[in-house]
Amino acid sequence: MKLYLTGHDYKYACEQIMLTLFPGQRPLYPEEPAEEGEDQAHITLFRGAQWATGRTALTWEGKSAVGSCRVKTAGLTGQVELDRALQKALKLSFYRAAVAVLGKEPPWGALTGVRPVKIPTKALLRGETPAQAEAVLRDTYHVTPVRRRLAMDCARASLAALDSLKEDEISLYVGIPFCPTRCAYCSFVSADVGKALKLLPPYLEALFREVEAAGDLLKRQGLYVRTVYIGGGTPTTLSAEQLAALMGHIRAHIDLSRCTEYTVEAGRPDTITAEKLSALKGNGADRVSVNPQSMSDKVLRAMGRSHTAADILRAYDLVQNSGIPCVNMDLIAGLPEDSREGFRASLDQVLAMDPANITVHTLALKKGSRLMTEGGSLPTAEDVAAMLDYAWTTLRGAGYMPYYLYRQKYMSGSFENVGWTKPGFENLYNICMMEELHTVLALGGGGVTKLVDRTAGRIERISDPKYPYEYINAIDHIIADKEKLADFYAAARR
Ligand code: SF4
Repeated sequence: MKLYLTGHDYKYACEQIMLTLFPGQRPLYPEEPAEEGEDQAHITLFRGAQWATGRTALTWEGKSAVGSCRVKTAGLTGQVELDRALQKALKLSFYRAAVAVLGKEPPWGALTGVRPVKIPTKALLRGETPAQAEAVLRDTYHVTPVRRRLAMDCARASLAALDSLKEDEISLYVGIPFCPTRCAYCSFVSADVGKALKLLPPYLEALFREVEAAGDLLKRQGLYVRTVYIGGGTPTTLSAEQLAALMGHIRAHIDLSRCTEYTVEAGRPDTITAEKLSALKGNGADRVSVNPQSMSDKVLRAMGRSHTAADILRAYDLVQNSGIPCVNMDLIAGLPEDSREGFRASLDQVLAMDPANITVHTLALKKGSRLMTEGGSLPTAEDVAAMLDYAWTTLRGAGYMPYYLYRQKYMSGSFENVGWTKPGFENLYNICMMEELHTVLALGGGGVTKLVDRTAGRIERISDPKYPYEYINAIDHIIADKEKLADFYAAARR
């Protein structure tokens, strides 16, 4: 969509709201004016002494509408507050024009962020009642009733998690960016997975060095690991011996005496064996993720997964027999070749297996994925909405509760990813990570360390290189860079 900004330079805010309301579009900033009737948005900011007004004139598929929003700027002292107010005026003006041309309200209304739950959580922490917290979502952001309920349930889970955390606790993420084959929607692991697998031994060598350095760093800082999450990629691409060696190395160098939760993503069923599960269990894992994404062989083939639905049932049985008490299963709504009926059948089959956690994702079209470059037969946004409605009702009916959620860019229909759980099986790592409740120290390729100082409202990120060869080559620099954690905590303690 062609965007024309006048009177301001809030490009990012305008792009965010455009991508939320028109997920299939990409922002364009042409020099020349658009043709009459062509898709375009003119987003203008007018500033007065007391007030500012955002105005959007939007044309979409031949329909045109104008939206505006006025905000009071008098009395706003800091630049951050002022920027926030002006961006709100622009976003809401765009939202109002978009709703008029689309003829419907999007599920999350005018909310553009990745973490919608933070809004009610903050309101509850300020001492507002649940009704007041929900009113912010309704009145300011026009969030629909179903999504408000999801956000409120997750906010309650977030507060309960926060209550259980101590100030000197962090979470540990360990990344294994390897997979047996590459899924069509993936932009994470290298396209040439076969060649990348040869890097596994030197990758583990580098990772072991980072584990040792991290153990030393945490000890010096007096920090304790509360949750461990080994993710990827697909960690169970490693052999049983490699998994045991990695987890043994973590235990030998990092104090896990306060760890109450240890997850390993076993993602692809074709990588799961009884030996590997025994290595996980023997080394402290108490939660694994077995991720079907779909229980339809046709959809699995279209995704480029090299396993069948029968392999998922087999893998689930192996996990059940391993004695690992908590299993998560991921499904994705909106996959190529899937349908409303197909998704329903997948969810019903997953429910019949009775896992403690079920995570329902919505397909996000990521740059660099095969799906993005080659295309595929995708369900419509209405189909995805029907899939999610079914998931929502069925999971609640089966006794599951939503406990964390997040949104992504380019997400089909502008929906969300939701973690559902049976009572008592909430995964603390996922809540801490998504709601930024405490520091997550990430080791390994593709990991993003998030340093969180909740008192000062400060968050800093340290990103590790995504591809294994980059990670191996940069390991000395990566280890040195993590010392930023010491500076961050020193500043927090001052
Ligand atoms: S399992 Fe995950 S990381 Fe691996 S190829 Fe598929 S989407 Fe990418």
